[in-house]
Amino acid sequence: MSELTDAELDQLIDAIGLKRPRSGSQLKPIAHGTYKGARQHYYRREPLCEPCRLAQNTYQNEKYRQRKQAEGYLTEQQWQARQDGGAQ
Ligand SMILES: [Zn+2]
Repeated sequence: MSELTDAELDQLIDAIGLKRPRSGSQLKPIAHGTYKGARQHYYRREPLCEPCRLAQNTYQNEKYRQRKQAEGYLTEQQWQARQDGGAQ
């Protein structure tokens, strides 16, 4: 069997649709562009890819907003609406 360079090996792995095992274990493919995907990157100690980073930001912003609402704070839009409409 001839030796493959890393690049050739990458091509071969892509060609047959294999995911390269890391750390000796089979890992599920990362669900890129989702919060779950971001968690998977963290778990593997990888830097987040752009879609995952954005998805995580969105997720955390949403969570933060929901928590504020649950605590009874107004969102900026609600505050603005109250200023516009409710002043008597
Ligand atoms: Zn990703």
